[in-house]
Amino acid sequence: MYKVAKIIFKPCKAYVEDIADTIDGILAMLYKTGQISEGWSVEKHDQTYVANVVTTDDDSLNPKYYNQYIFKETENFDMETQIICDDSTASDSCHCLKHSSYILAVEPYISSSPVICGDCGKEIPLYKIPYLYEEKEHYTILNFQKTYQAVSHLWFDSLSDRFTKRQITDFDSQLNKRGADIRNELELKVDKPVYYLLRNPIGGWFEFEKNNESLKACPKCGKELAKFDGRYADKVCCDCRLAFINGEQE
Ligand SMILES: [Zn+2]
Ligand SMILES: [Zn+2]
Repeated sequence: MYKVAKIIFKPCKAYVEDIADTIDGILAMLYKTGQISEGWSVEKHDQTYVANVVTTDDDSLNPKYYNQYIFKETENFDMETQIICDDSTASDSCHCLKHSSYILAVEPYISSSPVICGDCGKEIPLYKIPYLYEEKEHYTILNFQKTYQAVSHLWFDSLSDRFTKRQITDFDSQLNKRGADIRNELELKVDKPVYYLLRNPIGGWFEFEKNNESLKACPKCGKELAKFDGRYADKVCCDCRLAFINGEQE
């Protein structure tokens, strides 16, 4: 369960750098390792600074999840963390010990982890996911999430409808090809099947029959979609590693 937490920073005596900026930089790094969510505030007191954050679990602020940059930047601080309570607005995260599959699925309005456990259908905090490529933080996944959400917002606001709809729903769009590259790399790192969630066109009530047609075949290879033996997605193409929600109503 996501938690509301405090991180208390006490600068070492001789430390004269711009403390507020350094702390903000450390919090940005904790976001990139997947240890906290975006959107923090920092209180300034006489001798200390207190950051109010949302963290992903009881032990997710543990230094064992730091990367080398965080270790370096926190050298000049005595730090203490306190878990305050559950975050009432967050959903629970995955606590499965093993995952038989994963789904890479960016939700338009959810900024926590886009990596979903195929067994329980809940998100896996990014600090539990290996870094991709040669990275020392989750830069590529988080950057892709932001780009995907920006395109989604433009689509939902009906700005540049043809371009944005194609980016989200066409497997061959630049956005989805980037997602497929990340999926590929993630599968290499976790050594289990990883599916990329491809969204169906959402037509609402406009030309309902045409725009809400259930997918029966994979739009990429044309093979019949298989029922997904897990949670979160309904149908998958195992060959193309694509997943669909409501791909076909039973
Ligand atoms: Zn799970
Ligand atoms: Zn396919």
